[in-house]
Parts: sequence; structure tokens; C-alpha cells
Amino acid sequence: LVSRKSQKENTVVTVGATSVGNGKPLIIAGPCSVESYDQVRKVAALLKETGITVMRGGAFKPRTSPYDFQGLGIEGLKILKEAASEFGLKTISEIVDPAHIELAGEYIDIIQIGARNMQNFELLKAAGEVRTPILLKRGLAATLDEFLHSAEYILSRGNTQVMLIERGIRTYEKATRNTLDISAVPILKLESHLPVLVDVTHSTGRKDILAPCAKAALAAGADGVMLEVHPDPATALSDAAQQLNFAEFRSFLAEVKDSGLL
Ligand code: PEP
Ligand code: MN
Repeated sequence: LVSRKSQKENTVVTVGATSVGNGKPLIIAGPCSVESYDQVRKVAALLKETGITVMRGGAFKPRTSPYDFQGLGIEGLKILKEAASEFGLKTISEIVDPAHIELAGEYIDIIQIGARNMQNFELLKAAGEVRTPILLKRGLAATLDEFLHSAEYILSRGNTQVMLIERGIRTYEKATRNTLDISAVPILKLESHLPVLVDVTHSTGRKDILAPCAKAALAAGADGVMLEVHPDPATALSDAAQQLNFAEFRSFLAEVKDSGLL
């Protein structure tokens, strides 16, 4: 079902007035984690001002260490919804438990399935049963074929509103947190009709190369880019080193817009 052979036209994913996959690139931005109402509201105001329509923010955080901040859970989803609705934004947040998929639809507009759960097949099946759009992240060490098979799990259960996102893969290279596989973009676009995005924050793990990587993604045909922004990155409870502050976010947008790709 995900194959370009089964459907020639691009799938367009619709979230309110925003559509993805129809030529106009989507920018998804927001903090790594929802930490407080005040924090999210500041980001929401910035996004509104800069013309961004979809805000991210993790409430269930899949952390490497059990001692790291695990997220605010459902309370985090409520905060995200409240701040977003004040500014007329749509929201995306990661869900990690199949039992939360249905409930998530009450709070968020797009459900993110994280890299670590790309092959959590029960989660994929649950995501296929609802009609909330899904953003599926590529696994840390997943081939493109495995990635597409995971998307197939969702479509095969009836949810056709699926977007794919390249978020970097494990290689021996240490200069970046992961290796951004830019070739994944044109390959996925050739193989599948689903929208393809690139997460420049998690793929690179360094804020000094976000803009060139975003431009590369869009030049390669990506339907959108995701990145993290925080009112005070130094105090962030997760990914403190790589979230942009507001001034950096404005420069990022200006540089990418300047290229004519956005
Ligand atoms: C995220 O986007 O919040 C995240 C945890 O990313 P990934 O699943 O790609 O590591
Ligand atoms: Mn993060």
C-alpha cells in the first residue's frame, strides 16, 4: 500500500488548514520536551509570529537513561493543546504505548512514533486503527525497506494519513549525533507516495549545521523539516545542547527562506 506502484499520486496529509505532500514544505518546530505551560506558551507565540503552523513537544520521552527526565505524560499533552489552541496551532507529540493511541486523538493533531518504536508492531497496529495523522520516524538502524514495511503496518489497518521522517542513522561518524541519510529522501519519494520529512535536530545533534541540512533536505525533495526550539535551551530538561534559542530560530528560518526552497 505504501508503494508508488500501488498509488501514483502523492498522498497529501491534512491537518486543519495545513497540508503536507502537495508541494509547499511544512516546518514543524517546538521544544524537545513539554516542561511547563509557560515554556510551551512562549514557543507557541514565537511560532505564531513566524508563520509556523505545527508545534511539536514531547510528553512521553523515550530516554536512554531511566534517570533522565521521562516527560510529563498526559499532563504534557494537555499543556501542549492548551498553549497551541490559544495561538491557533496544530500539535504533534510522541506516543509510546498502544493503549494511548486512541486517547491521544483528543489532545494532539499528529501522533509521532519515535525512532526507537519504529518496529513496535503493536504500536503500529494501534496507529493503523485510528484516523489521526501519524509521523513515523526512521529507526536508529533501520533500512529504508524496513522503514517502509513499518509504514505498511499502519496503512494496512486503514490509516492512510502517514508521513515518513528521516532522523539520522547510526554510523561510525562521531562529528554528528547520527548521520543524516539525505539519500533517503529521494529514494523514499521514488519508492512511496507518502510525504517525506527530515528531522534536522536529531539527525545532526548540532545546531550550527541545521540550516544547511534543512536546505539540503528541501533541495532533495523533502516535504518538510522538523527542528527543536526552546526559550532557554541551556536549562532544557532534554537535548539542551542542540535546541535553538529564539534568535537562532529566526536566523534559521531567514537562511532557509533566503534559499528560495521554503
Ligand atoms: C523526538 O523527536 O522527540 C525524538 C525522541 O526523536 P527520535 O525518536 O528520532 O530519537
Ligand atoms: Mn529532542
